Amino acid sequence: MKLFVETASFFNWLKGLSMRYFVLFGLLIFIPPTKAEVIKGFNVSRLSQTLHILTDVKYNTNIGLVTTKDGVVLIDPMPGKGRLAELMKLIVKIDGQAPSYILNTHSHEDHSGGNAFFIKQGAKLVGSDFKINEIEGITVNSHTSQDEVFYHKKSNSLFVGDVFDSSWHPTFYAGGLKGFDKAIDHILALGNEDTRIVPGHGKPANKESLREFRKHTHNWVAHIRKLSLKGMGISEIMHDDHTVELLNMFNVENRSPFIPERAYRMFIKRTLTIISQEWPTNHKPQTTNHKP
Ligand SMILES: [Zn+2]
Repeated sequence: MKLFVETASFFNWLKGLSMRYFVLFGLLIFIPPTKAEVIKGFNVSRLSQTLHILTDVKYNTNIGLVTTKDGVVLIDPMPGKGRLAELMKLIVKIDGQAPSYILNTHSHEDHSGGNAFFIKQGAKLVGSDFKINEIEGITVNSHTSQDEVFYHKKSNSLFVGDVFDSSWHPTFYAGGLKGFDKAIDHILALGNEDTRIVPGHGKPANKESLREFRKHTHNWVAHIRKLSLKGMGISEIMHDDHTVELLNMFNVENRSPFIPERAYRMFIKRTLTIISQEWPTNHKPQTTNHKP
């Protein structure tokens, strides 16, 4: 009887121990630390066992390197024209194999410009009807009329292309404010609160940053509309203190200056175009400078 009790408590002790080790083991194995380093001009961030983000230090497009059972999947593999061969070498070094699939978040050159090169290396470009088991895709209309958002469940990461940019102001020029809002709603509905949001450019963020970005975008549009309704022209709007303040809300990385003056002017001009499309009946944007 005593032996039985001792044996039983020994097993209970062993069970408790193995549970603790399992948890410890689990943490060590399944939550690998994020590692970031620069290799041959690329920022390489190892975000999980199955996900790396590669970014040419000068070109700045976030390239997703996703390891799946179907093979290596590249998302937006464009590091600049002269850097494609070097990117290929880096991919093989990291993953030990050439890429099998290419996905693009949208068709702009800074995301799709490497497609031809990787197709020549044997990769297959897949569109919105793709069937890669571990990646889910949805189409939205914000930065372009066909923005693809990719969700990789294993690493709990969402690739949102230029619908969201953590290093720039919003560029919702195809879908306007309505398309932008819908896109953000779709993105927020995927994954959970811990889901990592990988923008087309800028540092990976989270859902809270995305909600902030949406709030700042709405404040921006409302303010530009208000000034425009007052009859202010682009130059006046540019020099308005609150406009500068609102622009700076997008300057998450605290760059100085945040964006070139030409880009600032263009952002206001394009915002006015969106406003005239969304409020066509009660708003006529001023495109020339209005001086009293
Ligand atoms: Zn881009």
